[in-house]
Amino acid sequence: MIKVDRTTLDQLEQKYPDIGKQIFYFEQAALSTCAHCGSADTADVQCGVIGRTIHIATATTKFKLTLNRPEPGTFFCNRCDQFFD
Ligand SMILES: [Zn+2]
Repeated sequence: MIKVDRTTLDQLEQKYPDIGKQIFYFEQAALSTCAHCGSADTADVQCGVIGRTIHIATATTKFKLTLNRPEPGTFFCNRCDQFFD
């Protein structure tokens, strides 16, 4: 789900060319349902924190950033706050 409005997306696009495409890519991605609660409200997990990825994580619920290496799981559940593979 997109969490920011059109104006914010346009501002991000100016700062990070093609970020809109990346956000759309994650929005469209077919992710696994949660292994713990079965929710479809899940996210793809990526490591590291740089400007562009922070903004992608801010813009869509389907992208989750973590500082932990290795990632605690391939996916993250937005409903029960747990990582899973
Ligand atoms: Zn869950």
